[in-house]
Amino acid sequence: MEQTLSIIKPDAVKKNVVGKIIDRFESNGLRVATMKKVQLSQCDAKEFYAVHKERPFFADLVDFMVSGPVVIIVLEGLNAIAKNRELMGATDPKEAAAGTIRADFADSIDANAVHGSDSLENAKREIAFFFANREIY
Ligand code: GDP
Repeated sequence: MEQTLSIIKPDAVKKNVVGKIIDRFESNGLRVATMKKVQLSQCDAKEFYAVHKERPFFADLVDFMVSGPVVIIVLEGLNAIAKNRELMGATDPKEAAAGTIRADFADSIDANAVHGSDSLENAKREIAFFFANREIY
């Protein structure tokens, strides 16, 4: 069993498709181990995305992530990290495969509906950033 962090981004929360996105996870062998709705601060978003701080899109990414509340979820399942990335689809929704979350719910490379951890190391760091062990079941 593996755990990964998913964030339902402000665009998808505003569209009221939180339940539809969680259904994709649950229908594909992933389980919600914990979940909360949060309004991130600039400080939270900058620290969470620190790996991207030199990238040209960093400021836009941070501004977008604080533009409204997000839903933060720990998903658990067999190969959860890769499975979640597969369900999400490509970063740019124009390139995302049909039937993926981003193909169905995302509008642009900024407003791309979901975040998902991309490695075991990042999953551990990202989960610990938002949750204490006693909150995850
Ligand atoms: P992900 O793992 O598929 O979310 O993609 P990355 O880790 O590479 O990038 C993190 C987030 O930054 C993405 O989900 C996008 O919202 C944003 N992003 C990545 N590349 C670009 C880009 O070229 N332009 C803009 N505007 N945003 C980007």
